[in-house]
Amino acid sequence: MEDSKSKEEEKEFVCSKCNFKAKYNYHGAKPPFLKSLILLEEAYVMKDPFSTDGGLITLGAECSLCNKPVCIAADCSLFFTKRFCLGCVTDHLEEFPKEIRQEICRRDKEKKQV
Ligand SMILES: [Zn+2]
Ligand SMILES: [Zn+2]
Repeated sequence: MEDSKSKEEEKEFVCSKCNFKAKYNYHGAKPPFLKSLILLEEAYVMKDPFSTDGGLITLGAECSLCNKPVCIAADCSLFFTKRFCLGCVTDHLEEFPKEIRQEICRRDKEKKQV
């Protein structure tokens, strides 16, 4: 993590959990190329290269607790009113509703079976 701000033209999102990397066009909640859209979170987004009507792809966002960038894959983060990385979800599991806890437990079991 050294001096990434000096390279404005080569913006790259890197997930802090799975190291997924992708170039992004915008970080925030209101992508300028999609005026009608307001995202639920300050996300890293790229323009969808296959969309003709200005679609976008959400790559990830920062965890609202530890501020690390995480991608939206189910193994890396969870969106529950805000974005949380799975590490923080596990650390604060008792603060999440039962549905979330069950979901995380279910995923843990699936992992152990592999
Ligand atoms: Zn990831
Ligand atoms: Zn976190």
